[in-house]
Amino acid sequence: MSAILDVVMHQPLVDTHEHLISESAYLQLNPDIITALFGQHAYIQHDMVSAGCNYDTLAAFLDHANPDIAQRWRLIDPYWQQCAHTGYAEGVRLAAAHVYQIDHLSAEHLVAAEARHRTTLVRGEHHRMLHHIGNLHSVQIDAFTWGLPHEADPSPFYRYDLNVHTIADGSVDLDALSRATGIQIESLNHYAAALVHLVRHHAPAVVAIKSQHAYTRTLEWQAPDRDDVAMVLQKKLWGVPLLARDACIIGDWAIGIIAETAAAHQLPFKIHTGHHAGNGTMPMHWIRPSLLDGLIKAYPNTQFVLMHIGYPYHDELLSLAKHFRNVYVDLCWAWSMNPRASSDFVRQWIHSVPINKLLGFGGDAFLPAQAVGFAQQSRIWLARTLNAEVNDDMLTIPQATHIAKQLMYDNQMALFYQR
Ligand SMILES: [Zn+2]
Repeated sequence: MSAILDVVMHQPLVDTHEHLISESAYLQLNPDIITALFGQHAYIQHDMVSAGCNYDTLAAFLDHANPDIAQRWRLIDPYWQQCAHTGYAEGVRLAAAHVYQIDHLSAEHLVAAEARHRTTLVRGEHHRMLHHIGNLHSVQIDAFTWGLPHEADPSPFYRYDLNVHTIADGSVDLDALSRATGIQIESLNHYAAALVHLVRHHAPAVVAIKSQHAYTRTLEWQAPDRDDVAMVLQKKLWGVPLLARDACIIGDWAIGIIAETAAAHQLPFKIHTGHHAGNGTMPMHWIRPSLLDGLIKAYPNTQFVLMHIGYPYHDELLSLAKHFRNVYVDLCWAWSMNPRASSDFVRQWIHSVPINKLLGFGGDAFLPAQAVGFAQQSRIWLARTLNAEVNDDMLTIPQATHIAKQLMYDNQMALFYQR
């Protein structure tokens, strides 16, 4: 093992982005080995669909009511072969190897592993996998909730985001927000007060604000005219469906209030940029990180964390992060989407952007074994990337290991855990 790989493997890793279901939900799901590795929105499903697998075949493969693991594997094997070298598949293979000691994914090995896996479906295993097998320091979970989810684990190992997606894209249920904040929303002032309350109330318990509105509208942000916003709010209160332009007007206004309140509480604001998960809709013109330029400039005291390196527009982030002191970039999900592009991105970053603003890992997974596989993948690729820098005489080994520790731990501690 290289000296760098050794350091990277032993360094506890702060995981800044997952969607992990709670331990009780995990035990209730009672996943079999196929579900644990391939189920619950696992990204590998999207590569297999892209390779030609239809949704019925995929559903039959994932159907854990059918105990015939070997027969289910045979359904998917032709598509798995086509995806064998993608980053998503690499994450699955590493999860299988690292968590379940499966050295080669086949019907026979999965059947053998199923019996061992069953014995691990007990309380404590969720945390053991992530903390002890994955060597994660902590995991930041976006449970898609306003503040902590009902089943939030009180252990400081599990941290949570405050998700504002529906507020940012204008689709927010105002009655639900009124109930959540205790502020009856009948005017723009009420709506503003509710948003401030939401952030202020949850700020002590959460690690960040999170929005993935790039899935449902353009990221482009413009300072809205207050009269226009008031008109759109009136339409919402009347129950009139909003046009896309209206949704952006009220969404941009709300994003501004949230950004300002987040800054007052030193809460970083994580925003999805780049590639969409899934298949069948990929509006490339919505997702470019540079569309956020106006927002970043308007709220210089808000720390914006631009997620997923804006793939495939990662070059834009080298420029935005170099220029703006309030822009941070997260490699969450990036290593598995395209490990080679992520590796090149890190090498370019090292030689062009201050190193304290790059966050090294988030798996973006719902199930713990999958997060562990992606963590292992990020360690291997980070070590490979830094070794390449050393081999090209760009860094010494001590410099490379110092950078590794910053990307895996120090930068996250400074940004999220020192409020
Ligand atoms: Zn995510």
